[in-house]
Amino acid sequence: MEGMMGGVSYQRFPKVKLRELKDDYAKFELYDTDASMANALRRVMIAEVPTVAIDLVEIEVNSSVLNDEFIAHRLGLIPLSSDRAMSMRFSRDCDSCDGDGQCEFCSVEFHLRAKCIGDHTLDVTSKDLISSDHTVVPVDYSSDSFSNDPSDHRGIIIVKLRKGQELRLRAIARKGIGKDHAKWSPAATVTFMYEPDIHINEELMETLTLEEKVSWVESSPTKVFDIDPNTEQQMQLPASVFTSLVKLDDTNYLVWKGQVMAAIIAAGFEDFISGSSSPPAQFLDSGDLLMNPDYKIWHRTDKAVMSLLFSALTSETLGQVVCCKTASEVWLTLKNRFESVSPSRVMNLKVQMQQLRKDGKTMQQYLSTLKNLVEQLAAIGEPVEHCSLMSH
Ligand SMILES: [Zn+2]
Repeated sequence: MEGMMGGVSYQRFPKVKLRELKDDYAKFELYDTDASMANALRRVMIAEVPTVAIDLVEIEVNSSVLNDEFIAHRLGLIPLSSDRAMSMRFSRDCDSCDGDGQCEFCSVEFHLRAKCIGDHTLDVTSKDLISSDHTVVPVDYSSDSFSNDPSDHRGIIIVKLRKGQELRLRAIARKGIGKDHAKWSPAATVTFMYEPDIHINEELMETLTLEEKVSWVESSPTKVFDIDPNTEQQMQLPASVFTSLVKLDDTNYLVWKGQVMAAIIAAGFEDFISGSSSPPAQFLDSGDLLMNPDYKIWHRTDKAVMSLLFSALTSETLGQVVCCKTASEVWLTLKNRFESVSPSRVMNLKVQMQQLRKDGKTMQQYLSTLKNLVEQLAAIGEPVEHCSLMSH
């Protein structure tokens, strides 16, 4: 159980949000309340939810190594399916049998008969318990996905018998609660923890450079932070997207541009690339005394877009744009440098393709070289027709 407690609240109308629910496991958020509520729930789950468990054992024959009390105690601890527990009566309140606790409304009868006749040790398990009610049976763990151990498929071991030893008994299961005895507790364990509520000092964060913010994000050992996409600041850009892009080189400009453009648009910064976003006035007054905060923000964002563009360049390409003043200047420089494909380059690639021979290459080497040339031509706007490939 997980609790998320908001502020000082003592109201008794908490909200529950399920995060995980399996047959034998539940995890949920509890909020709009305080720890006492979570603890009350925890205690009810452990001690006050009724289940069915073996409560009376009559031993007919027991020649095993364990004494009667020991076996009775082990039987009591075997978990039984308890879907019927809510409709069953507590035996002490039962009118039908005057509290005897052995009628159909307040009890379920089990029988166990086992005798070892072979030379091998016989394991007597919960699967040997024969129930008089098919809805109340020992819990079968073998159908659970987590049980890969073949020993689980035999049920829970009660006692081991050697040749000639015998166990014969009748047991009565009754409804009860964990408060009376732990065998009736429906939960193995119930815990809760506080969900951390983190407040970031935005003003202080403003004063950090992008590098400082990145190192701050990375300082968290469990990686709970990322560069925030919801603020208007440079925190917004998802830096990880850019570092995973194909880096720009002489051959892949159009592919590179497509990827970077998509990431820039996704982050909402296309205006900084196209140059249509121009910086606001530097000063608020005519006397050049009051600095315009928007001016500072604009430049900081522009620098962040620039540094992200840089992160998608190889070091050689970076050398050609490192003197640029703005992100749009970087973008334009790269466009001028790479977009206009010289006719000689197209010719060069086409000649390479025509002269490509299989010769000593394996088929795979040959095809991957060919594919590479075709892709380069396609990327510079000279797609190769399918039929011209066929001639190879
Ligand atoms: Zn009864």
